[in-house]
Amino acid sequence: MSKFYVVATPIGNLGDITLRAIETLKDVDLILCEDTRETKKILDKYGIVKPTMSYHAQSKLSKTDKIFELLEEGKNLALVSDAGTPGISDPGALLVSKIKEYLSDSVDVIPIPGPSAIIAALSASGLPTHEFTFLGFLPHKKGRETLFKEIAISERTMVFYESPHRILKTLESLVKFCPDKKVCVARELTKIYEEFKTGTPAEILEYLNKNKEKQRGEFTVIVA
Ligand code: SAM
Repeated sequence: MSKFYVVATPIGNLGDITLRAIETLKDVDLILCEDTRETKKILDKYGIVKPTMSYHAQSKLSKTDKIFELLEEGKNLALVSDAGTPGISDPGALLVSKIKEYLSDSVDVIPIPGPSAIIAALSASGLPTHEFTFLGFLPHKKGRETLFKEIAISERTMVFYESPHRILKTLESLVKFCPDKKVCVARELTKIYEEFKTGTPAEILEYLNKNKEKQRGEFTVIVA
């Protein structure tokens, strides 16, 4: 059986990689990367010298054919994204689903777990974590208002990813649709300027408006 490893990599701090992830990346025949230049940073840090091939959201069907060919030849492959766990708001889910559908007799799909911004954010947020719904990135237009209405009435903790360009807009919507909820904005997790800020949507909005430098970076938002 060929092996197809889905390998989680750091979400900022390059130290956040498991021993098993390093061993796996050293052992496989080829590493599929969302962006080969991003992955090179981690490969260089851990002295991993392996052929890489790009596989991203815009990859053509011919790329999938090539990957299938390699697996059918008996090659072992690893898939990584730029940061965190592949397939979680990142390329990989469709490829894994196709491998499982068409090559399940000849390929084992094996997760190598590790960082994911959702779990890191939840774990140190102080908000309820026993049940949560992950929303990925919120839609920009269609379905956006409906989603905020769902967040407003949900009894479960809601978690989503947000870009620095849209964080203020999203907080404005939270102020409008669910002013009494608690929001935790987890910014730049595992990096130098890591920060958790918790409060009502209005309090967080005011904080970000007053501190423009805090509007930069990567955000995971939790609403409870
Ligand atoms: N697959 C990744 C994972 O498992 O975490 C998520 C990839 S998604 C394309 C990237 C988004 O995740 C960012 O826009 C941000 O919302 C969130 N994210 C990634 N790294 C983060 C970090 N260090 N701190 C906070 N949020 C982060």
